[in-house]
Amino acid sequence: MKIDVRTVSEGQSYSFSHKIDLSSLDFAGRILFSSPVSIDGTIQKRNGVVTLTADWTAEAEFRCDRCDTGYTRALSRTVECVLREGDTGDREDMAPLTGGVCDLGEIMTPYVILSLESKNICADDCGGDTRWIIDDTEV
Ligand SMILES: [Zn+2]
Repeated sequence: MKIDVRTVSEGQSYSFSHKIDLSSLDFAGRILFSSPVSIDGTIQKRNGVVTLTADWTAEAEFRCDRCDTGYTRALSRTVECVLREGDTGDREDMAPLTGGVCDLGEIMTPYVILSLESKNICADDCGGDTRWIIDDTEV
C-alpha cells in the first residue's frame, strides 16, 4: 500500500488499515509469518513535519532455540517515525518518502524484523531437548 502524503494537509491526519504478507521471509526456518501482519495507523502533518504512527500485530510460528519445538506467539508493537524525502540513513525514528509517497510495506517490514528477538524460547522454564541432557547419576 502506497500513500501520497502530499495529499495530507497541514494540521490534518489520515488513518489507514493495511495488511502485509511476510510469509516469504526466511529466518533460516526458525520463524514464519504464516498470516499477514495487520497495521493500523495514522499519518499526520504538523508544522510541515509528516509523522507516521502505526500499531502492528502479527502471529508468527517459531521454533524454540532450546528444545526445537514449534510454537505460535502473538507479536505487536507501536511504530512512530518521521517521514522524510530521501535517504534517512540508519535512523530508526525516520522513514523515507519517494516523491512524496510512502510505501507502507517497505517502511513497516524492517520494524517488524527489528522487533524479533535473537533467541526464541517456547517457555521461560523450557528445559531443552531431553535427548541431549546427560543424566550423570547413573554413571
Ligand atoms: Zn523450548
